[in-house]
Amino acid sequence: MSGELQPRRTSSRHVWIQFTQLAADYKAVNLGQGFPDFSPPEFVKEAFCKAVSGGHQMHQYTRAFGHPRLVKILAKFFGRIVGHEIDPFEDVLVTVGAYQALYCAFQALIDEGDEVIIVEPFFDCYQPMLKMAGGKAVYIPLRPKVEGSTVLSSGDWVLSPEELASKFTPRTKAIVINTPNNPLGKVFKREELQMIADLCIKHDVLCISDEVYEWLTYDGIKHVKMASLPGMWERTITIGSAGKTFSATGWKVGWVIGSVHHINNLKITHDDCVYQCPTTAQEAVARGFEREYELFGTPESYFQQLPAMLHQKRDKLASCLQSVGLQPIVPEGGYFIIADISSVKVDLNDQNTKDEPYDFKFVKWLTKEKGLATMPVSLFYSPEHSTKFDKYIRFCFVKEDSTLNAADDILKKLSQTQ
Ligand code: PMP
Ligand code: GLN
Repeated sequence: MSGELQPRRTSSRHVWIQFTQLAADYKAVNLGQGFPDFSPPEFVKEAFCKAVSGGHQMHQYTRAFGHPRLVKILAKFFGRIVGHEIDPFEDVLVTVGAYQALYCAFQALIDEGDEVIIVEPFFDCYQPMLKMAGGKAVYIPLRPKVEGSTVLSSGDWVLSPEELASKFTPRTKAIVINTPNNPLGKVFKREELQMIADLCIKHDVLCISDEVYEWLTYDGIKHVKMASLPGMWERTITIGSAGKTFSATGWKVGWVIGSVHHINNLKITHDDCVYQCPTTAQEAVARGFEREYELFGTPESYFQQLPAMLHQKRDKLASCLQSVGLQPIVPEGGYFIIADISSVKVDLNDQNTKDEPYDFKFVKWLTKEKGLATMPVSLFYSPEHSTKFDKYIRFCFVKEDSTLNAADDILKKLSQTQ
């Protein structure tokens, strides 16, 4: 082979690697990539240790489509919430994080030329995964309720029912929703989900529902599962993540729950690419869910304690952003706050970054010059709409208070130099 080897294709997703590396290189206070900088709760760490020191079978392959103990408790746990009996061996697939769950969903359900409606802003891997499956993305943006008004809460961002209805065509195979949403933090209300569900039923379309942040809602707002709406169990593919559920993103355990005829197709993709997931992590997640099943709805439940803790962190970061003139859109759920950077006057016209969106340049500048890492919001938009959303950046608030205090200091100094 002669000449230099070039990558076969490029990905917009290299941004994650690039910006995570930049944060490390500049030893920046890291509110960029979404992960907790605190430990998972003791009960899941203990469960992991128990699994590791358990019998020899804990160190060998387990069932390909999900460790039996885990699929059994996932089926029991979510069956109670969705109000539909879930068969642990037919309706559940355990994956390498929610990423692989999404990958299997796109590969298994989308054929060449199928149209898939994606709600913007969206977690950016949906687009390349859909493209790999040969599907065509049709975007519909969440918009501020009153165009041009100052929007202060993620709840003020809504879909237009007429606009959404106009996106359905005979080629539409699925719609992807993410509630609570990354990066905006919107939690879809029951009526909003019902409007989407009615269209799915009318047009015989599937719903891929990414619910990785399902336990993280604030201000008393409740997450509603799309699969629990009448007529939606049969057509919803629900995706979850133990990383987000138990604050252990490095464990990379995820799952898909849905009706057997869809899950069977996903199982084939799973079988073809990873075959099965690590046994010990699945055992630990199973034990975590068994505990939560017993404590569900009580103050001892981690699914109550985690959002209560994050609520305070959200408020702390939001009030800091507000005080320095970076208007936040206060999220109803999830890991992130987005804030408007237009009030910060800084010359970013570096020759090397001329063609980059403004928020990308800003994030690099903030990391390198001020020591604070964040993520650009235009990353979460389609190329067609990203230029309209290059004046926001995303902050992760799932961090120790000391990390948030360090970010607060940087932001205060930044506002003093303006
Ligand atoms: N969906 C969304 C909306 C996410 O933010 C993420 C990032 N963690 C994932 C899926 C992937 O989750 P996991 O880490 O479990 O692969
Ligand atoms: N979901 C996390 C985030 O949005 C991690 C994404 C990633 O590492 N690619 O920050």
